Amino acid sequence: MKLEKMVRSVYPNLSPYVCKLEDLPVEEIKQALGLDKVSKLSFNENPLGPSPKAIDAMQKSLTQLNLYPSSNGEAVLHKIAEKEGVTSDSIILSNGADEMIILVAQTFLEPDDEVIIPKISFVQYLASTHLMGSTPVFSPMKKDLGVDLDAILERITNKTKAIFLCNPNNPTGRAIPAEELEVFLSKVPGQVLVVIDEAYHEYADGDGYRSSVELGKRYKNVFVVRTFSKIYSLAAARIGYGIGQPEMVDAINHVRPPFNVNSIAQAGALASLDDDEHVLHSRQINEEGKRLLIDVCEELGLTYVSSQANFVYVDTAKDNKVVFEQLAERGFIVRTLTGYGLPTSLRISIGQPDDMKNFSKAFKEVIQNEEKD
Ligand SMILES: *Cc1c(COP(=O)(O)O)cnc(C)c1O
Repeated sequence: MKLEKMVRSVYPNLSPYVCKLEDLPVEEIKQALGLDKVSKLSFNENPLGPSPKAIDAMQKSLTQLNLYPSSNGEAVLHKIAEKEGVTSDSIILSNGADEMIILVAQTFLEPDDEVIIPKISFVQYLASTHLMGSTPVFSPMKKDLGVDLDAILERITNKTKAIFLCNPNNPTGRAIPAEELEVFLSKVPGQVLVVIDEAYHEYADGDGYRSSVELGKRYKNVFVVRTFSKIYSLAAARIGYGIGQPEMVDAINHVRPPFNVNSIAQAGALASLDDDEHVLHSRQINEEGKRLLIDVCEELGLTYVSSQANFVYVDTAKDNKVVFEQLAERGFIVRTLTGYGLPTSLRISIGQPDDMKNFSKAFKEVIQNEEKD
């Protein structure tokens, strides 16, 4: 059996999800490092955990595990529709935003298509493009690491099927100003799908950021992606959603597997949407931690982005691998950005304020080459 002859022709472009130290569950990281305490600041997880209301609802849902869930998550669709001011047939649930990105790719991308992706952005856009055998076209970033919308427009050809934007962008934390985005959309041909991933929507409140859900009512080629993994803190439950024109949602529903979101996740998401206080608290904790981290970057004279999300991009001006290892010795796991051609940069997720105080101390030691005490 020649396995390489059996797999699809796109196979050489695919790779399993990388499992470096920073990708492991925190318990496994502790074991690997032989440490009792590890702060995992590499996954943009909400350090507060889910809303107590969500946990309660999810626990109650356990008694119904013998039953199939709602195949499309009807109750969650309605709740989101109400919140976002759209009709429920404009929304589709997915097994995390990651699955939403794959479903969009499976619905729209053909091998001959070109897909434009900003060079420094979320990795799953490239993976899904490769999965469908389409051609990725990378567009350069602005000098300040903002998304360069003009550079994207210049790359549109008659083969372009889709453009992926992440707003605010992971891993830079920059948002695209709403005015710029609107001008951009007015210039993108109507048959080019513009996917706007708003995984950090609930954290963003500056840089001129506005959700594109409103714009999507006028520009029918816009599809917005959201997740319950970030501020709602349900990453392990796997639930995300997309918002677009009903025709677009209907098309994706032709591809979506039934029951793709389990009933525990549906119950958690539904209850989370009712807990504004938890969202507010999460945002406050994030602001506090971000302030601490930015202050230490200032103090150290490092270049950083004053992020619109729950992480901070920082250029350490040192080999990030060395910085990573020295932080790991001190119990802090961060994300290195070497894969993006940024060998001195890190993405640091915001933990609890106490964590960030301890992190700041460790970070100063490492950057200033001081001994660990
Ligand atoms: C975390 C993240 C996702 C994935 O979210 P899941 O719902 O957990 O699959 C998607 N897009 C971006 C930009 C993210 O940072």
